[in-house]
Amino acid sequence: MALMSDPQNFLHELVGSMSQGAAGNPTVAMIEAAFAHHGLHWRYINMEVTPEDLGAAVRGARALGFRGFNCSLPHKVTVISHLDGLGESAAVMGAVNCVVRRGDQLIGENTDGKGFLKSLTSVADPRGKSVVMFGAGGAARAIAVELGMAGIQQITVVNRSESRGAELVELLRGKLKLNAELVVWSGDFSVPAGSDVVINATSIGLYDAEARLNLEVSSLQPGMVVADVIGNPPRTRLIRDAAERGCTALDGLGMLVNQGIVGVQYWTGIEPDAAVMRRALGQALGL
Ligand code: NDP
Repeated sequence: MALMSDPQNFLHELVGSMSQGAAGNPTVAMIEAAFAHHGLHWRYINMEVTPEDLGAAVRGARALGFRGFNCSLPHKVTVISHLDGLGESAAVMGAVNCVVRRGDQLIGENTDGKGFLKSLTSVADPRGKSVVMFGAGGAARAIAVELGMAGIQQITVVNRSESRGAELVELLRGKLKLNAELVVWSGDFSVPAGSDVVINATSIGLYDAEARLNLEVSSLQPGMVVADVIGNPPRTRLIRDAAERGCTALDGLGMLVNQGIVGVQYWTGIEPDAAVMRRALGQALGL
């Protein structure tokens, strides 16, 4: 392990992120805060990569000895053809957001859902739980696969577009044998009594603290866990409504931090300090 305490070592271990729109990605701030806090002689480099250059960029990362890198939009699916293998949940999802060098191989993992799961398990054991999830896009797919692998009992996917929702439900039933059903979202959805976990995995609420889900708020019951993937702003309308109804509320900043924690664990083998990372991310986002 390269530590800063070695004064003769002028070579950093490298990780980073490949995406388009990289300038708006605050992940670098929280990961580098963790490296500094733990005295790791590592750097996280934020890299702007076009789809045309992705293959060359991955070959470059290999040549430069990168220990791994995150992949964000639009590379989460296309990066797979440039890798040597996939972790279990990434293979089920068909999407990678974190590449890890193991030996001389680059292996694709997915930390989106794992970050969510880590947040959830801080307040509840997912096993046997009944889940309602709004959305069926990339984040929803990652969360649902990870929840299915963690042993939830049942999931209701509530999505506006029927085709995307049906595709996710088929994947959950087919690959994970999960008890999954689709509700096509129109009008205010009422959460069934007996649900344990309610998740907003849509982009509703991003940069808009007043944006409202089509949800019958009075159907949220005390004792339910209500989670939002939206990290900016973290106190979404859903999170505020859930807290007011006496639910346990989990914001998207927690998911983002936990996703970073899982990545740092994969790359360095250490468990980084969550509070340090959350503080750095909050500062980077001006929260
Ligand atoms: P996608 O574009 O893949 O999916 C978007 C989803 O939101 C779809 O299900 C879409 O429904 C639904 N949706 C969007 N607008 C509306 C609307 N007005 N009414 C109803 N449904 C709507 O995006 P991602 O899944 O990649 O990302 C979703 C959000 O998750 C983003 O805001 C992102 O920032 C956040 N995210 C947070 C992470 C974290 O760590 N906190 C990690 C990853 C993502 P339809 O299928 O009908 O279009």
